[in-house]
Amino acid sequence: MSTLYTELGLAPALNANGRMTALGGSRLSDGVVDAMAEAARSHVVMDELLTAAGRELARAAGTEDACPTTGAAAGIALAVAAVIAGTDPARIEALPDPGDRPHEVVLQKGHAVHFGAPVRQMIALGGGTPVEAGAVNRVRRAHLEGAIGPRTAALLYVQSHHAVQKGSLSLAETVAVGRAHGVPVLVDAAAESELRTWTGSGADLVVFSGGKALGGPTSGLVCGPAGLVAACRAQYAGIGRPMKVGKETVLGLVRAVREHEERRGAGDGSGPARERERMARLAARLDGLPGVTARVVRDEAGRDIHRAELTIDPAGAGRDAGALAAELAAGSPPVFLRDHHAATGRLAVDPRPLTPDEEETVARRLTELLSGPAGHAAADAG
Ligand SMILES: *Cc1c(COP(=O)(O)O)cnc(C)c1O
Repeated sequence: MSTLYTELGLAPALNANGRMTALGGSRLSDGVVDAMAEAARSHVVMDELLTAAGRELARAAGTEDACPTTGAAAGIALAVAAVIAGTDPARIEALPDPGDRPHEVVLQKGHAVHFGAPVRQMIALGGGTPVEAGAVNRVRRAHLEGAIGPRTAALLYVQSHHAVQKGSLSLAETVAVGRAHGVPVLVDAAAESELRTWTGSGADLVVFSGGKALGGPTSGLVCGPAGLVAACRAQYAGIGRPMKVGKETVLGLVRAVREHEERRGAGDGSGPARERERMARLAARLDGLPGVTARVVRDEAGRDIHRAELTIDPAGAGRDAGALAAELAAGSPPVFLRDHHAATGRLAVDPRPLTPDEEETVARRLTELLSGPAGHAAADAG
C-alpha cells in the first residue's frame, strides 16, 4: 500500500525505545486521531478552546487550571516567563529581556540536563538566567538556599531519568526551600504519567509532555493555580507566539488525557503488569542468544515501566552493544532499541510503544543477527 511516508521514501520505524521525540513521540489512539480530525475540520474561538481545554486538563491534574502547550519544553519557557512577567503586557512584550524583574532560576546542577535540547536554554527563552546549585552528584539544602537572592524568580526541579539521581535533593526538600524563601517552585515532569503525584507535591507549576507518557500528540501542559496559569497563557502574546499551539493539538491532548484517566480508572496498574510479563517472556527468549544476557529491569527514574534489558558480550555477540543497535536501526524495517546505556554494553526493549507483532519482529531480528555468521563465528572462536 502506498502511503505518504513511502512516497517520501521513508520506512515506518519500529520503536522499541520508548516515547522518543526522535521517533515521533507516541502512536496515537483512534480516539485521539478522531479528536484531531474534528478540530481540523472546523474553526473555534481559540481563547475559549484554551480555557475550556485547560479546565478539563486541570481536572485530571488536580489543579485549579492548566495551560495547553506545544510540549514540555515550551511549558518550561512559558512557566519561567510567567513568574517573571506575570500578566503585565509591557513586561510580557519585553521578554526575554526581564528588565529589572527578578529572573534567576535556581536548579540543582545535576538537573541541568539535555533532553534533546538544554533545559538551561528553555529557561533563557522565558527570560530567565539559570543558576546551578551544588555539584553534579551532591547538592545539599544549603547549596540551594545559598543560590537564592533578591534576583531569584523561581526554583526549577527536573524529574527525569536524564537527571543525576545521586546525592540530589528531593522535590519535597526543594518545595520546603521555596516555601521558606517565598520563591515559586516549577517542576519539569515531562515524561511522567501520574499527574497528581507531581501536582500534589506543593510545587507551584508542573509541566508535563502530552506526547510522552500521556500518549497524546506532540503537546504539553502547565498545571497550577489559576493566577499563575493565566500568566502562562498570557505569554502567548509574547515569547509564546513561536510556540503557538494549534486547535488540533489541543483537542488531541484533551482526548489523550481523558483516555489516560480512563485507563487508570479501569486500571489497578494491569497495563504495566501485563507489560512486565511480556518483557519477562521476551527476556527469557533472548537470554542465551550468542553474547546476550537478558533480564527485566525497572525504569531508572522509578516509573512503573519494566523493560527487557540485554547485556551484550562482544566476544560472544561478534559486535558490541552500540554496533548491534546500529545494525538493527539500519535494517528493514529499521528497529530502534533503547540505547542510552550502550556505552556500558546494555540495550533495552521498551514495551510501551510496541505491538505484539512488532515485539515478535524485534525478537526475530535479534535472533537472526546474533545467530548469523558474525554471531556464530565469534561464538565459535570464543
Ligand atoms: C522530553 C523532555 C522535555 C521536553 O518535552 P517536549 O514535550 O518534547 O517538549 C523536557 N524535559 C525533560 C526532562 C524531558 O524528558
